[in-house]
Amino acid sequence: MTKDILVFIEQRDGAVLPAALQTITAASQLAGKTGGKVVAAVIGKDMGAVADKLDGSGVAFVYVADDAALAMYNPLKYTRTLCAIIEKADPQIILLAASFMGRDLAPRVAMRTNAGLATDCTELDIEGSGALVVKRPIYNGKAFSRVHFNAGRRQMASVRPNTFAAPAGGGARAERVSVPYAADSADDRQTTKEIARTGGGEKDVTEAAIVVSGGRSLKSEENFKIIYDLAHALDAAVGASRAACDAGYQPHSRQVGLTGKTVTPQLYIACGISGAIQHLAGMRGSRCIVAINTDAEAPIFKVADYGVVADLFTFVPLLTEAVKKVRSH
Ligand SMILES: Cc1cc2nc3c(=O)[nH]c(=O)nc-3n(C[C@H](O)[C@H](O)[C@H](O)COP(=O)(O)OP(=O)(O)OC[C@H]3O[C@@H](n4cnc5c(N)ncnc54)[C@H](O)[C@@H]3O)c2cc1C
Repeated sequence: MTKDILVFIEQRDGAVLPAALQTITAASQLAGKTGGKVVAAVIGKDMGAVADKLDGSGVAFVYVADDAALAMYNPLKYTRTLCAIIEKADPQIILLAASFMGRDLAPRVAMRTNAGLATDCTELDIEGSGALVVKRPIYNGKAFSRVHFNAGRRQMASVRPNTFAAPAGGGARAERVSVPYAADSADDRQTTKEIARTGGGEKDVTEAAIVVSGGRSLKSEENFKIIYDLAHALDAAVGASRAACDAGYQPHSRQVGLTGKTVTPQLYIACGISGAIQHLAGMRGSRCIVAINTDAEAPIFKVADYGVVADLFTFVPLLTEAVKKVRSH
């Protein structure tokens, strides 16, 4: 086994997931301690441009499996192909983003490569003996566990989006290594025919660097337009409280919280959300929290870095205009 760190580069239709690039930063920090290289795995169809995006990012080798059969994500084909890349690259550590695809792929690959796996990690380090040590939130972020891997065994971890910055760039060109796709008659009986996209092209809350969320106080689906306007000005995703989703103002795919999605953006703006414990469970890991609420005693202010006591219907459009003004300069 080499001392290298392999990063799976998640892409959809050639668009690289920002969290995958952030994972390269985590890998570079680990490689500095193992003494190995950062290598990458790219799987899909027409992947030349995706591999090009890794040039200068600190990746030394990019293993590319480029085949029409891999055009759309398929758990069986992607698992088999990533395992083939792992066999060829023989890395000590495998990292991937804790995205929906990462959650699906990681346990399958870990099982087949006999690797230990820790998911949704927020800190990664190497112990003296060369073993991976990670920190991961448990009980909806109320506590953290520290996971120690065995040195000398294959180690695998998924990294929570927005925990690391994207690589600075300026490094050398990554060397390409082509990996042929091996068809398998048993696995290939299951094919992906279509991937239906929801959300109308809007960003997903779990992957965005900025999330603007609205609560029950928005009072209607139409009124959420002011939340979308601010989100678009900030290049952000729109989230919502469960009360807003249950009322039909937003789809449940946008719900943040205990029974919704967990988000960890750089900036979370809560507009007219009280800050019930179940909502906090899904967003308290955000780097900076801004709360806008008419009630100065609302619990959301206890976790907010910046609080605005104001009517959101007045304040949010003013904030949107201010953001647009700053961005136009
Ligand atoms: C098992 C369980 C699981 C749950 N899971 C989730 C979950 O995943 N996510 C989640 O969000 N909730 C969840 N909940 C529900 C949670 O307990 C709250 O009921 C919900 O979060 C409240 O949503 P809200 O803050 O939008 O509404 P409210 O609690 O009604 O709060 C509205 C807030 O808006 C403020 N406001 C009103 N008008 C304005 C205005 N014009 N301008 C500015 N502020 C204004 C009010 O002061 C108030 O603070 C769960 C509950 C249970 C029991």
